[in-house]
Order: sequence, then C-alpha cells, then structure tokens
Amino acid sequence: MSTFKAPKGTYDLTPPDSAKYLAVREAISAPLKNSGYGYIETPGFEDVALFSRGVGESTDIVSKEMYTLTTKGGSELALRPEGTASVLRAALEANLHKLGNLPVKLWYSGSYYRYERPQKGRYRHFSQVGAEAIGAEDPALDAELIILADQAYRSLGLQNFRILLNSLGDKECRPVYRDALQGFLRELELDEDTRRRIELNPLRVLDDKRPEVQKQLVGAPVLRDYLCDACKAYHEEVRDLLTAAGVAYEDDEKLVRGLDYYTRTTFEFVHDGLGSQSAVGGGGRYDGLSEMIGGPALPSVGWALGVDRTVLALEAEGIELELPASTSVFAVPLGEEARRVLFAKVTELRKLGVAADFAFGSRGLKGAMKSANRSGARLTVVAGERDLADGVVQLKDMESGEQQPVALDALVAEIQQKLA
Ligand code: AMP
Repeated sequence: MSTFKAPKGTYDLTPPDSAKYLAVREAISAPLKNSGYGYIETPGFEDVALFSRGVGESTDIVSKEMYTLTTKGGSELALRPEGTASVLRAALEANLHKLGNLPVKLWYSGSYYRYERPQKGRYRHFSQVGAEAIGAEDPALDAELIILADQAYRSLGLQNFRILLNSLGDKECRPVYRDALQGFLRELELDEDTRRRIELNPLRVLDDKRPEVQKQLVGAPVLRDYLCDACKAYHEEVRDLLTAAGVAYEDDEKLVRGLDYYTRTTFEFVHDGLGSQSAVGGGGRYDGLSEMIGGPALPSVGWALGVDRTVLALEAEGIELELPASTSVFAVPLGEEARRVLFAKVTELRKLGVAADFAFGSRGLKGAMKSANRSGARLTVVAGERDLADGVVQLKDMESGEQQPVALDALVAEIQQKLA
C-alpha cells in the first residue's frame, strides 16, 4: 500500500472484477447501438451555470452535491453531476438538430460526480450509461427507451427489478398542480427546511421519506387529477405501447425524481435486492430543457442507468456473467533461446487475433505455470533447450492436462485449429 488511498466515496475498479463493469457497460449500450443511437462523449466538466439552469437551483444535485471549482482563468466550472444537460448542450453546439432528421439519438458512457454521503450503492464518483433522444415528441420514443433499458437489464439476466412510471404534466397543467400542492403543504406542520422546499420545489416534498411527513401527506392533491387532456392521452399511449411490448410497469404517482427538467413521462428502474439505494436507473421526458439552456424548443426524452448499482444488482441476484477468458494461449519459455522464440510466436499469434500472453520475468517453471493457470488460458506452450533442439515445443491443453510435442513450424496452425 502507498501513502495514499482512493478519496472518500470512491473506489477503484481492478481486475478481475473490473471485467464485470465493462460487460455491464457493453450490455447496456448494445441495445442502443442496435436502435439508431450514435455515440457521444463530452467533457468531464462544464460551466457551472449549465447545471444550475438546466438541472435546477432548487435540486439537491445543484444546491448541495456539485463539485465546483474556479479555474486559474476565473471560469466557474463543475464536475458533471449528470449527463443530460451536457449531451443536450453538445448536440446544440454541434447543430446536430439541424443536420438531419429528428430525433437526434445519442448514447454515452462515463463518470459522474456528486458530493453525497457515501454508503453502499451511493458514491461520489460513479458511472452511468445513458441515452437521449432529442427533438421529437412521440410517445413511441418514450416507450422505445424504456423497452431498451428493460432489454439491457434482461440481457444481463436480471429479474428482480421493477419499472415505476409516472407523468409529471407539462407547462400547461403542472403549474396549476404546483399551486394546489403548495396550498395544501403550507397548512402542514413542517420544519424550516421543508417549508423552504414547498416554495422552491413542492413536488420534492412528496418524496420525503420520514414517516411523520408521509402521514401528513395523506390526502395531498395528486398530479394525475390535474393532468391536461394532451398529457393524459400522451401518457396513455406510452402505457399502451409498453403493454403491447410485454414490458411490465407500475404506475407510481409519487415518482417525481430529483431533477427539475422533467416533463410528462418519468420513470425509474428499481431493484429489490439493493436496500435503500434501490434505483438502478431512471429518466424521463424533458421538453423544456433546451430552452432553459438557451436553445430552441426541442422536446426530448432520455435515461441514465447506473453501472455501479447494476453490478450490485447482479451480485444481489447471484448472477455470474459468463465472461470469456481474456487469454487463450500462455507461453512459458525455459531459457534464453526459448524466450526469443516464444516471444516471437506470441507476437505472431496476437497479430492473428489470438489472445496470447507470456511468462515475463525470470521465474522457474512452477511460478510460470501458476501464471498460466491464473490467466485462464486454454492452451499453454512450454519450450526448453532440448525441445528447441528437436524443433518442437510442448503444447498443453489446460482442461484435459494433456501435453504433446508440436513442431515449431506447425504451432500457430495447430493452436488456431484447437481454439476454433
Ligand atoms: P439520476 O441521474 O439521479 O437519475 O441517477 C441515475 C442513476 O445513476 C441512478 O438510478 C443510479 O443508478 C445512478 N446513480 C446516481 N447517483 C449515484 C451515486 N451517487 N452513486 C452511484 N450511483 C448513482
């Protein structure tokens, strides 16, 4: 161990576990790549105002959890706490919405930062794979994204997750509801912080986990009763499309999510094996965000799935991903000449696309064979002076334990045949 440790609330991904994270990212992105989403990558930091305007001043993310910094040049930046605002900013900057047909469909994968109280499943640095469909108001697009996330989780073998679905209304009906809710909340016995929240972001009060608050919330006006006809019809269509696709969901009228930009469809994927940090992913429609950050009207929808929590969900369900061994052939040279000969063979195999590794350092046969075992290779090539004098190497099948001499010239072809 060195003098240093990973900062509080962070952890490192190291082999062999890191392979799971790669596999999860791959599994989440595969359905997107297959559905017309193009890859986008944006900087790890942005103008702080992008998030305060986009995500919302009153949200926990902006008011408490952002890592902000002032650069030597005097710019106010924030490490990105989420992906949507950055992706929309980048799409607008590149004029993607003017180049071709709408929607612009994008996917991304990266690190996000929130200064949160660390606990299992909640970190200060975490990783998400996300998708955004920009510039179209079409219930089929909302349904598409939910279906693709469902497909991603299922492709990993996950079963114990649920989809919570709600509609938050639009700029017509949401303000009417907001007023009604504020009127109701102002009459309750609540602490100062919560009173402030009533004025800033009353929908978030519904999210309060404290039983004494929840008790008072019985009888609060529900958004469903305030949805305008257009929002109702839109939501019905999303629900019908999900049902037709065989994707089960639960209506959850309390689902408001922690970001201000959501309108209409909102959803969350929760996993029942994760304890208090049960949300493995979430998203929704954000029809007003583009205008909030100075762009044109571009109704859009997206989600972000948490990679860390998806890995925890796999563990909770006892799912072992079938990860192919990273090495197929391991070469063990005994002596200087063998080192040169086998190193050349390993290079040749790699050029042909065979995953091969080599016993580096001057270790004895025993240590080198241990490395061969640990590598998971199906075949090991061992060669000493006497073998080379005979023009052969020993090829060992690590599963059966069988070993046979193979002519050096025929080695590559023999390996390819055995691996085929
Ligand atoms: P959000 O952007 O808050 O909707 O988060 C989307 C997903 O990212 C969540 O469902 C989690 O899976 C993941 N996530 C958010 N915050 C954290 C965190 N602090 N640590 C780990 N995962 C997180």
